[in-house]
Amino acid sequence: KAWTYAPAPEAADHVRIDPRYELFIGGKWVAPSSGKYFETVSPSTEQKLAEVAEANERDVDLAVKAARVAYEKYWSKLSGIERGKYVYRIARVIQEKARELAIVETMDGGKPIKESRDVDLPLVAAHFFYYAGWADKLAYAFPGRSPRPLGVAGQVIPWNFPLLMAAWKLAPALAAGNTCVLKPAETTPLTALLLAKIIEECDLPPGVVNIVTGAGATGAALVAHPDVDKVAFTGSTDVGKRIQKALSGTKKKLTLELGGKAANIVFADAPLDQAVEGIISGIFFNQGHVCCAGSRLLVEEGAFEPLLQKLRDRMQTLRVGDPLDKNTDVGAINSKMQLDKIRELVEAGEREGASRFSTPCELPARGYWFAPTLFTGVSQSHRIAREEIFGPVLAVMTFRTPDEAIEKANNTMYGLSAGVWTDKGSKSFWVSQRLRAGVVWANTYNKFDPSSPFGGYKESGFGREGGRQGLLPYLEVD
Ligand code: NAD
Repeated sequence: KAWTYAPAPEAADHVRIDPRYELFIGGKWVAPSSGKYFETVSPSTEQKLAEVAEANERDVDLAVKAARVAYEKYWSKLSGIERGKYVYRIARVIQEKARELAIVETMDGGKPIKESRDVDLPLVAAHFFYYAGWADKLAYAFPGRSPRPLGVAGQVIPWNFPLLMAAWKLAPALAAGNTCVLKPAETTPLTALLLAKIIEECDLPPGVVNIVTGAGATGAALVAHPDVDKVAFTGSTDVGKRIQKALSGTKKKLTLELGGKAANIVFADAPLDQAVEGIISGIFFNQGHVCCAGSRLLVEEGAFEPLLQKLRDRMQTLRVGDPLDKNTDVGAINSKMQLDKIRELVEAGEREGASRFSTPCELPARGYWFAPTLFTGVSQSHRIAREEIFGPVLAVMTFRTPDEAIEKANNTMYGLSAGVWTDKGSKSFWVSQRLRAGVVWANTYNKFDPSSPFGGYKESGFGREGGRQGLLPYLEVD
């Protein structure tokens, strides 16, 4: 039976969102020099949540200057132990405010509250805790060498995991001794601004962390600023390539975490019920707005019929709707623009001859929604098999031999992640060694831990975030 939408519970009444947010520069809340503000809306209600300052080149310049002063005057003079204490403090205050942060994340971005509460927020705190632990151990991280911070980091992040991406950027940079200017995505700026308040509360020296909000132009101004030593970007492959081009010939260090089109490979000997859960989480977690989403399902022919039956049955149980309802499995699409992109690719899939199945559900009248969808009869040349959809849409294909599975899995311009499902440990090792993907999960999917490095091959970018490897992009190691 189709699940129907129920009105929001009162979670939203428990958080305070200011009507207007300024820029966080040099430890102060500063009005944008252009006087311009943009609106951030809730994608599940289309209601305006707040007005947010639009930073231009002048504001970015002020933020980079503040970060430089903070680096020279305070941060580079602190011992690792002292820096670590600040980063631990941030982690603890995030834990104290986890409920509020999770609700705002869900309101601003559309992801189900059970994900922001149980996945995003615990991981955000864990990243700060983990890197706080490294701050006084950099010499141990790179024995026999002398690691030194780079200076000012310019960091640009996307909208799919707003606070988690901020944590992935800020925690290693600060622990390694750099100061930061962070540019959140324009559709989800709120939790980064709440994080700025936490940073204030933790008494970090002014200018160690600066938050400049705005659209692509603000990000472009930040990465182009001559006094930025290090650029860390997470976002689309198109913008990543543009940044790489703009930075060529400069001495800036660059890391890029870009798109993906991951294959989730299911062998006939796999535990199918477990695989179904992994496939569902792989593609419908966070509405499929996940760079490592398992968006191509490769099934061994012998398992195709039973697996598809189980998948369709499981998809009928997914609850799509109000992301503030803690029973919701699939929330709102992050923006109208993203919804249009998903629709366009799904229409292309239908036009190109693939067969569509979607979770039967009644979608709310307001907001941006897309029912969980899978396509069978997909060929490798179809757009839905090649392009990153970044939505709850799965393309199912089959294979006969392990070699064919590997060949199909690697037949993509991306190389961020992959999944392998089999009863045989030796097979999962053999297959994963042949996959051109930065992360391979075996008999599970979407498992994250701050101690595990994450990053891509090919057009999924370069550099790693997480783990000891995640410190490297923020250090000069002689
Ligand atoms: P996007 O590239 O449009 O935007 C990302 C960020 O870059 C935003 O803050 C945006 O304002 C800014 N930006 C836009 N143009 C810019 C420019 N010319 N110079 C500098 N900054 C600019 O991407 P998106 O739509 O926000 O995010 C979705 C993409 O991010 C997907 O492709 C997804 O796969 C990728 N992603 C990758 C990872 C990873 O770790 N590999 C993680 C999350 C998301």
